[in-house]
Amino acid sequence: MIQDLDQYPYPDRTSLPIDYIESMPLDVPAVLSLDKFCTMQTSRGCPYACVYCDIPSLSQHKWRCRSAEHVLGEMQQLNDMGYRSIYLTDDHFLLKRERINAICNGILERKLEFRWGCEGRVDATAIDQLPIMHQAHCNFLAFGVEAGTQKVLDRLKKNQTLAQIESAVRKAKEHGIEMVHGFFLIGSPGETAANILESFRFAGRLQLDTFGFNRLCVYRGTPLWQEYVARGIIDDERDWHKWFKVSDIDPTALPSEEVNRLRKKGYARLFARRIFGRPIQTYKVLRTFGRYMKKSDILKLLLSPFRRRTLTRKPELPAGMTDAG
Ligand code: SF4
Repeated sequence: MIQDLDQYPYPDRTSLPIDYIESMPLDVPAVLSLDKFCTMQTSRGCPYACVYCDIPSLSQHKWRCRSAEHVLGEMQQLNDMGYRSIYLTDDHFLLKRERINAICNGILERKLEFRWGCEGRVDATAIDQLPIMHQAHCNFLAFGVEAGTQKVLDRLKKNQTLAQIESAVRKAKEHGIEMVHGFFLIGSPGETAANILESFRFAGRLQLDTFGFNRLCVYRGTPLWQEYVARGIIDDERDWHKWFKVSDIDPTALPSEEVNRLRKKGYARLFARRIFGRPIQTYKVLRTFGRYMKKSDILKLLLSPFRRRTLTRKPELPAGMTDAG
């Protein structure tokens, strides 16, 4: 486990094709911009223990960071190279408030011009750094909300409350973060249809600008994988190279077709609630999209949750489990 991350030189971005530098996971609406964009990482790992997440085991539950000076050196270089939009891919950027404060002050002192975004937990003490983050051009913040019921949050060992989620999203908006995104999970073990619909209702109550509802998957190295090995659902020796959608393999989760049906229904209600209940915020988000996207692409994006999906691959199942379960 490498502790001293300052030992590494900055990546030579000139040696990579531009679409590689700019690539982001599809479910992360990176800092919306047509400006020159890239990602960078200022810390690694996470000390928490959410059951579905493989980051803690990959990082031995340790969080390590680059010093503020080292980060600012790379930011200066990116700024000088003309990058005006940067997404920090740290697993939990909001962990250490002094470091955030030093980075933000450095951005202001050096008059760096780019806008940036990051991800973090809703219970982070560094939430009190939101004002200086905003001043230092942070315009996108993504929270792992995951569920709208305490029951599911506890089952996922998320170690956060609904009140903490509401407070973090509200503060982010109050302090001027332009786009606040919520990651949600559906199809969790023990989650009922009512629980899934409650997650969509909860998303509707929050002041989120954007949101994404993904089906929960289980990966090797996570506590959930270990649980399924212990329950005899996954064979660690034969399945080690696979990953599974929980709703395909766990009898305590709703079946996949039901989860997909509920997702469509939830999105329809959430979109309607947004358009009619918060027309100004919805208009502002669409206007931001409109600055950078074609109208036809925005329409496609809005309709995407409702489109019939054609299955491109058969669901991966553990050794010994057939389609019939
Ligand atoms: S989901 Fe986020 S908070 Fe939970 S263990 Fe993974 S990185 Fe940490």
